[in-house]
Amino acid sequence: MTRIFDEDLAGGFATRAIHAGQRPDPVSGAIMTPLYLTSTYVQESIGVNKGYEYARGKNPTRQALERNVAVLEGGTHGFAFGSGMGCLDSIMKLFRAGDHIVCAENVYGGTFRLFDRILRHMGLSFTYVDTSDPQRVDDAMTPATRALLVETPTNPLMRLTDLRAMSDIAKRHQALLIVDNTFATPIYQRPLELGADIVWHSTTKYINGHSDMIGGLAVVLEDDLADRLQFILNAAGAVPGPFDAWLALRGTKTLPLRMKQHDINGRAIADFLVGRLGAERVIYPGLATHPHHELAKAQMSAFGGMMTLDLGSKDNARSFLEKVRVFSLAESLGGVESLTNHPYTMTHGSVPSEVKDAMGLTEGMVRLSCGIEDAEDLIEDLEQALVGI
Ligand SMILES: *Cc1c(COP(=O)(O)O)cnc(C)c1O
Repeated sequence: MTRIFDEDLAGGFATRAIHAGQRPDPVSGAIMTPLYLTSTYVQESIGVNKGYEYARGKNPTRQALERNVAVLEGGTHGFAFGSGMGCLDSIMKLFRAGDHIVCAENVYGGTFRLFDRILRHMGLSFTYVDTSDPQRVDDAMTPATRALLVETPTNPLMRLTDLRAMSDIAKRHQALLIVDNTFATPIYQRPLELGADIVWHSTTKYINGHSDMIGGLAVVLEDDLADRLQFILNAAGAVPGPFDAWLALRGTKTLPLRMKQHDINGRAIADFLVGRLGAERVIYPGLATHPHHELAKAQMSAFGGMMTLDLGSKDNARSFLEKVRVFSLAESLGGVESLTNHPYTMTHGSVPSEVKDAMGLTEGMVRLSCGIEDAEDLIEDLEQALVGI
């Protein structure tokens, strides 16, 4: 498994983002971590090797990324996977038939699909609750509950969950708290410091930040949990290729800089949209009118560039999505370029409509992932796409 180096803990967040987990190459002094394109490693004798045997288990390029993100999350061990869903699927292999999981009702659509269409048929049972209300979470816990899974802020309704309250509940019931930190990133929210056991990411999004790879990554603090996850990583093998790991590692170097700009643009765009549409139709945790704004200020150090607009009808949403020019209509988020989508039919297409109705996700909603272009250009684009709405 990939444990962090203690010396990687030196410096502030931006310094760690650039240097943690990386050393100049011992052969040439190359400043950038080489791309180790190898499936195996030569051994000197039986059981005598440099700590590397076969690349499903360990690859030095992947390890640099694992250490880097583990340090940024304030954890001790990192585990990289070939996608966010591959990461979650491997995490779920910690559990066995008969185990019960409490899951936030408003999770990423793919998370719900994995649980409802695959893992449920393998003997795990799930209860979905509104995790913004700790009492409901507590009520859903049973003696068979082994994990509590949350995502905050949620996708696409931008609801927040109090991670400290979740950690208290999970500990009381001896369940693991597993947090999807994809939206906030470790620069704005560190779940392990608030009591989470496992924090995970779709590195496809902000961690890589350039929309040019797919990946997932989990970070933990506890050695026992790390041993179990390393066993699963090697045994199940949902690992990324070294080039994708390298791209994500390059991405984290600018994570603090990018997130600052996503946040600046997000705030400017939210302010513009409140003036244009009214506060009740703009869902952004940075707005004082957001129901979880106080929690957002306490739990996150900034709000980022994700928001959702309620345009009132599917026709309005279609008209908006067809007119945008700087924003592009596409799945995904967290890249330097601005994207927009229709969560009802796209990210949450596989979620049954009764479930979407119950959580308040409507056909008139569009989600924005505000990129790091000039804010004026983004605002001008939104202004022209909203004409007639
Ligand atoms: C995209 C995403 C995932 C899934 O990750 P992939 O890399 O697409 O497999 C999980 N959670 C959230 C919040 C996401 O945005």
